[in-house]
Amino acid sequence: MTAAACHPEHSTVQRTVEAPGTRSERREAPRSDDAKAAPACHPERRPKAEVKGSPAESAEGLFDLHCHLDFAEDPAELAAGLAERGVGCLSVTVTPEGYGRAADLLGACGNVRVGAGLHPWWVEAGPAGEDAAERAAANAAASRYVGEVGLDFGTAHASTRDAQIAAFERIARACAAEGGKVLSIHAVKSAGKVLDVLEHAGALAENACIFHWFSGTSDELQRAIRAGCRFSVGPHMLASKRGRAYAQAVPAKRLLLETDEPPASGTPVPPGEFARLLQSALAEVAALRREDPVVLADRIARTSRDMLARP
Ligand SMILES: [Zn+2]
Repeated sequence: MTAAACHPEHSTVQRTVEAPGTRSERREAPRSDDAKAAPACHPERRPKAEVKGSPAESAEGLFDLHCHLDFAEDPAELAAGLAERGVGCLSVTVTPEGYGRAADLLGACGNVRVGAGLHPWWVEAGPAGEDAAERAAANAAASRYVGEVGLDFGTAHASTRDAQIAAFERIARACAAEGGKVLSIHAVKSAGKVLDVLEHAGALAENACIFHWFSGTSDELQRAIRAGCRFSVGPHMLASKRGRAYAQAVPAKRLLLETDEPPASGTPVPPGEFARLLQSALAEVAALRREDPVVLADRIARTSRDMLARP
């Protein structure tokens, strides 16, 4: 079974819950040939236990603005577990087919919004890629939530650069035409181009554009802030010095949280782990910004509810 993940620094984490409150991690070298594997379920065994005894048990009003619930073996069950822990989320998808499936499986979950996505890793050059881009743009036009979309100019994906741009332009135009959307955006070595595309399409003004795990330059960060973008920050971004600096620099009302979990299709992540990751990111961001965690949590929850409110 190939694992399909969606961020170059994230794709390689595999977790097994061994006992309540404990877990082990195994990291492998990224495998670019896995990048285009379609997300799929497989009969991998379920985690043995939830994260009992952790702060997750008392989680209230936590919001995950970028996760991949459709990578779970049973997305609806995971969504229900998150609802029990007071976690609301924007579950993004990576292909038009994945969006259709996720919308079917998660559409009835009150705590989940499903994003219509076409992840840049899944963009192909040629007619197949154009067809997927057309379907992704139609999905984006019809959905309030759009993601995961964007550009990845990392070495492994540079060969599809032109096709990625063409697909993202098409999606951005669909968002600009409709307005009122929430976009979750992937940008690796491409934040400036992402902003160019959104700006030229006219997608920045009438939509909430959220950079997921922002990793651009500080000039690009300032440009995104001036353009009114939001930023979802999670444990992976906070693992780097630059990511922590950005989490301090983002204006308070533009700050959101994310997990980007599960990292790959078929990789089990229990709902308590989502809550634990969100709470730990919240605590770290509060410490970095020297803010009262309760005040910060309340403000992020309000911003998140705005994003996730149905029109
Ligand atoms: Zn993602």
